[in-house]
Amino acid sequence: MISIKSSREIELMRIAGEIVGKTHNYLKSYIKAGITTKKLDELAYNFIISQGATPSFKNYNGFPASICTSINEEVVHGIPDNRKLKDGDIISIDIGACYKGYHGDSAWSYPVGRISSDKEYLLKHTERALFVGLDQIKEGTKIGDIGYAISNYAENHNLGVVKELVGHGVGNHLHEEPDVPNYGFKHVGPTLKAGMVIAVEPMLNFGTANVYLLDDDWTVITADGEPSAHFEHTVVVTKDGYEILTKR
Ligand code: MG
Ligand code: MG
Repeated sequence: MISIKSSREIELMRIAGEIVGKTHNYLKSYIKAGITTKKLDELAYNFIISQGATPSFKNYNGFPASICTSINEEVVHGIPDNRKLKDGDIISIDIGACYKGYHGDSAWSYPVGRISSDKEYLLKHTERALFVGLDQIKEGTKIGDIGYAISNYAENHNLGVVKELVGHGVGNHLHEEPDVPNYGFKHVGPTLKAGMVIAVEPMLNFGTANVYLLDDDWTVITADGEPSAHFEHTVVVTKDGYEILTKR
């Protein structure tokens, strides 16, 4: 069952989402060549705690860090470590925060210094694909409408749509029903109602859609080694649209 949140729950999720947005803004100034992903993780942990929240991902199914840091061909779930960012990298940072029991979840991909035109293209169109998906949302939209719009946009721009990982409902659990795939058919799937909260999160590859899991059992990478980008917002469905809870 897909839960409909009360106005009190939505208010708490607005705060959780705002903390996630602020954490992104805070980290952004540190994304430079030479910083380690472990340092970014520490900064995020301290910032989230300073806001009166806790990092949703820490220990989630055993995940060992507060944020996911996925560089270049890493799609999602990269584990922060002593690797240093280099000029020309792109890094996807996925952040979750829990405030009074309710979560916000948002990922964003950032350039490190000057990046290639291919990577610029990938970032620009993955961000756009997120909004193309979000713009489907209002009461009455079917989940398939979102995925159809995203995959249609991605395919028109020759980008690979990762299918193994999907968006999801959000609430007092980080991952709730329904699944929100980045592919699908129009007018198919569960129907959105006002008060539902979902995370939409296209993961698009510069090359083919194929991905695989590394031996660490977390990091997902592209099969062809081409870069991948990830943009995600948590939103609440309204009668005639949606409100972004993880605003920047
Ligand atoms: Mg996320
Ligand atoms: Mg998510």
